[in-house]
This record gives sequence, C-alpha cells and structure tokens, in this order.
Amino acid sequence: MQISKRDFLKRLGIGSAAAITGAAFGDEYVASNEKLPPGAIGDPMNPRFGKWIYPIDHTVEDGPSSFMKGGKVMMPGREVPIFHETDVVVVGGGCAGFAAAVAAAKTGAKVALVEKDGSLGGLFTNGMVLIVLATARKEAGGDFTVVTRGVCGEFMDRALNLGSAFCTKPTKDNLMQPTVDPEGAKYLMDRMVEEQKIDMFFHAWGIDVIQEGNKIRGIVFMSKQGMQAILAKTVVDCTGDGDIYFAAGAQYRQITHGIGFVSRWANLDRITAKRPPRDKDGNVLPGYWIMKGNEGNPSTCWTGVPNHHGDGLDIRNLTREEIYHRKETWEAVQKLRKTPGWEEVFIANTCSQIGPRVTRLLKSECIVDRAMIANKWDPEDAVGWFGVDGPHAAWKVPYRSLLPVGVENLLSAGRCIGAPDTCDTFRLIAPCFVTGEAAGTAAALAALSGKSPRDIDVKTLQKTLVKNGVYL
Ligand SMILES: Cc1cc2nc3c(=O)[nH]c(=O)nc-3n(C[C@H](O)[C@H](O)[C@H](O)COP(=O)(O)OP(=O)(O)OC[C@H]3O[C@@H](n4cnc5c(N)ncnc54)[C@H](O)[C@@H]3O)c2cc1C
Repeated sequence: MQISKRDFLKRLGIGSAAAITGAAFGDEYVASNEKLPPGAIGDPMNPRFGKWIYPIDHTVEDGPSSFMKGGKVMMPGREVPIFHETDVVVVGGGCAGFAAAVAAAKTGAKVALVEKDGSLGGLFTNGMVLIVLATARKEAGGDFTVVTRGVCGEFMDRALNLGSAFCTKPTKDNLMQPTVDPEGAKYLMDRMVEEQKIDMFFHAWGIDVIQEGNKIRGIVFMSKQGMQAILAKTVVDCTGDGDIYFAAGAQYRQITHGIGFVSRWANLDRITAKRPPRDKDGNVLPGYWIMKGNEGNPSTCWTGVPNHHGDGLDIRNLTREEIYHRKETWEAVQKLRKTPGWEEVFIANTCSQIGPRVTRLLKSECIVDRAMIANKWDPEDAVGWFGVDGPHAAWKVPYRSLLPVGVENLLSAGRCIGAPDTCDTFRLIAPCFVTGEAAGTAAALAALSGKSPRDIDVKTLQKTLVKNGVYL
C-alpha cells in the first residue's frame, strides 16, 4: 500500500509543522505518491538514497520451512529454482578460483564464478596474506627462474605495472616474492574477470552439488534470495576447504593446522625511535620488531600476532580465534603507541576473516607426498610447477592431484589438495594460482568436448596450458 508522508504523520497524530519540515523523522524516508514516473511507488525524500522507489517482484519461492519430527529437525524436499546455466562453474574466488575461472574462459568456455564474499582473492586479499611465495626455481648457478607463470605471471606483471605502492619489486634476494597491496589485488582481479566476460556472482555461498548418478550437474548456492541452482557441465571446487567435494561425498581427510590473523599497521615511516625496546635478556619485545614498512607503500606493514593450531572448520573455534586475535592485535598496538618513538602507529585494518591454513585435503587420484618430491619424481601428466619453498624444492604438479576419486565432472584446486607433508607448498599463493589454472583449463576442455575431466586428453591439456603461458 502506498502512503504519503502527510497521511503517515496524520495517523501518528503528528502536526502539519512536522510534516513540512520532516523533523520528526530525521534521515528516514517516507514514500509519497506525487508525480511518480511509471512503475515507481514513492520518492526516498533523502536524495542520497536515490531518486525513486521501485518495487521488486519476488523471484524465488518462499519456504517451505524446516520442521520438527520426533525431536529431529527435518528439511522437506523442494524444487530449487535454476538461477543460471553455464559450461564451467567455479566455486570460491580465492587465487585458485580466480585463476581457474580466467583460465577456463581463455580456453573458450562460458564460465560462472561463485564467491561468498564481496571481493576476489580469498586469504590472499581479504585474509591479507600479502607475500606471494614459491614462485621461483633456483638453478645450479644460483639464478632464479620464475616457474609460476600463466595467469599468475600475468597477474604479477600487471600488479607491478600498477605502480610502486602496489607491489614490491621482486629481486633475486627475496626469491621473487613480491608483497602485493590487497586493495590493488582486488581491483586487478575484478578487471581480469571482466575482461574474460566471466559471470561473476558475489554474496553466493555454495552449499551443495546436483547429482545425476555419480556425475555432478551443477551446484546449489545460498544467498539473500534463498537457495538457487547453477547448472554446469563441469564444476571446480576452489573453496579452500573443499566444501563442494565434501557435499559431493568425495573422500578426504581433515587435519588441524595453524590459524592466523593478519593486520596492517600504518605510519611506520613516522617511527622516530632508533631501536626496538628489549627485555632484560636483550630480546626484542613482542610487537616491537617492526621498524619500517614491509609493503610497496613505505607507511604500512603487515604482520600477525602468534597463531593457534586447531580445527579451521569448527565455527565455535573460529569465533573464539577471531575474538582472541582482534583483542591481542588491538592491545599490542596500544602498547606500542605508548612507547617513545612509536606514538603515531595505528591499525590500518585487520583481515576480514581469520585464516585457517589447511582443513580438508582431497583424496585425489594422485596424492603428492614429500617422498615423491625428494625422489625428484617427474609426472607425465604435469600441469604446472611450484617454486622453492622451505623444505620443498621446486617441483611439478600432476593433473591427477586435482581429480577426486570416484566423482565425475568435478575438479578441485588450491589449498584443499595435497598430502599433510606437502600441503605447506600446495597451499601457498603462487601454487594455488597454478593448480587453479590447470583445473580451470581442464574443466573447460571437458565441458567443450562433452567428456568427464578424468577422460580428457592430457597432452591437449598440456598444450593448451603452454599456449596460455604456463611453464611446463
Ligand atoms: C595466516 C596465513 C599466512 C599465510 N602466509 C602466506 C605467505 O606468506 N605466502 C603465501 O604464498 N601463502 C601464505 N598463506 C597461504 C595462502 O594465503 C592461502 O593458502 C591461499 O591464499 C589459498 O588460496 P585458495 O584460493 O586455495 O583459498 P582461499 O584463499 O581460502 O579462497 C577460497 C575462496 O572461496 C570462498 N569460499 C569458501 N567457501 C565458499 C563457499 N562454500 N561458497 C562460495 N565461496 C566460498 C572464500 O570466501 C574465498 O574467497 C598463508 C595463509 C594464512 C592463513
């Protein structure tokens, strides 16, 4: 029902003076029906909220609700509206999902990318993990060769070209490990997704798969509009936690790992102290080791308070960790600000979600473990390289590590693949780009040829990857 502001005020018993000034309502709008354009049902009164108010018809059927039966909560069978149809749907827009979607589109497929948050990059940007590790292989002469190319290489080149405050310049000494500004990274990912004409759906949480026999025919996601379906020929799970392969009933193992919380501190270029304070044993006090910015922008420094080890899927645990880390970070900075020379330092921002490093690990057709790498294993189905990282030398990743055992039309990439003793390389940013690109390319080839990813010709996959700039 339409109601004018005057009528509304009358019903409340408020006089005409208030109706004229609108004072009784402050900033709140009240719709009027004077001189409305076709379709409009009112004007917002406050021009900051737009010119006219239009009704939006329901696009999704409401309910039916879950119900109690014998003390249990039951969910009734119901039809799920089809929201979209595509060749490849990638769920999760972290660096793996971003690379998968871009690569699938470059291979010629129609692609949809589904992300629960409102921006791309996952832990890399929203988790504010900013150092891109494991990009390069050390050669016998001591030089480094960048091995994470393709979408990762294009992204890093364009990041460097965006300007010096965006990305630190990689050098031989820092093993080609640039630190990237999170806002710039989000901006660049949006541009690259737009350029490839990918159907991007933010604020959509993938919750289920659509099964037909042992084949996956798409996904079900949840949004503010309820549950809806996306039909696809191939699905790529890049949720970081294997949410989609979990829903598909694929086999996996879950492990505990470090859960971290990152923040960025600003005004680091205004520290006037010459040395960090130390305890009586000469140790630098926690939180004081930062003496200068460590990003492209000399004013900012990204850092984290000590991590806890635990279950990265349990929301009780994650909630405790979020609250604990925010408190620790705030108190560390307040202490810092009371120290002579550090008065101007402040928290620029904290990560928008805490970072579980590893949770589920897929049981794939080939699980790469540390022994394989130590034995310089050279898989015939290699689809990319990872650079040197800690205990792991540079190595090749096999296509089979992306294929779940026993489920068709599904691939996975990113931090939810690998073995417990290799996941610390699989999960790094550049390797996630690499497995994402391989999974996206394979998903497109499968969708375009009407085959399951397991049955595509691996030589064609490798040729396509090389054509798109991947280092093999
Ligand atoms: C504290 C910490 C420090 C780290 N330090 C480094 C480092 O220095 N260098 C380095 O290279 N790596 C580092 N890493 C590892 C690295 O940042 C991540 O492993 C990597 O970014 C993971 O990428 P991903 O795309 O696989 O997953 P994620 O980044 O987790 O992306 C998954 C995406 O999927 C979305 N998503 C999840 N579930 C759903 C769903 N059901 N439906 C829709 N969307 C969904 C998420 O919102 C997210 O955008 C660190 C990680 C942590 C936590």
